Amino acid sequence: MIVLLGPPASGKGTQGRLLAEAQGCSYLSTGRRLRVEVADDTSRGRLVKKFLEEGQYVPDHLVVDLVNEWIGQATKGWVLDGFPRTLSQAEELDRILAPEASSLKAILLDVDFSELESRVVGRRECKGCSWTGNVTEASETDGKCPDCGGLLHRRFDDIPENFRKRLKEFEDLTLPVASYYEKSKRLFKVCGVGKQENVFERLQSTLR
Ligand SMILES: [Zn+2]
Repeated sequence: MIVLLGPPASGKGTQGRLLAEAQGCSYLSTGRRLRVEVADDTSRGRLVKKFLEEGQYVPDHLVVDLVNEWIGQATKGWVLDGFPRTLSQAEELDRILAPEASSLKAILLDVDFSELESRVVGRRECKGCSWTGNVTEASETDGKCPDCGGLLHRRFDDIPENFRKRLKEFEDLTLPVASYYEKSKRLFKVCGVGKQENVFERLQSTLR
């Protein structure tokens, strides 16, 4: 049971997928799942659409419902990306997991804020699977996903204005979540700067 914390574009998605793959468990990006539900026009998708489009924070109960539903299905363990995003979500997750909450590990990916904005502007995501990369990688494969061949696109919420909102939201809402896990000795900090494989190596040795 691992939660990944980090500012927008810190590489949580990539590291989360690698980690879940290495551990043979499930990976859930709440942000990605919600965007898929918007695209599929599900009832939850219709409820969260305007929050995502405006770069706003999706209300707790909608995300908690999603996570609760999904954790029940992930029998081989899981890596959560994008949740908990607030202190109350973190407390709610502990209630959901009790009595196993103490074995949860939280990883904070540390990346210099000045590097993050340029990453966001160049970020590309696959429509078919959860692959994320940057515009340079996308041009190497002609705009196709290296994993599934799907079309790569820029996320509709990846605009500088939304990025600054998400960064502020991270500082105001999610940093307290990191302190919460730190107090209960469940927080591990990993430097998120450098090549994907090097970050992943650091992450794995931290967890060992
Ligand atoms: Zn793909």
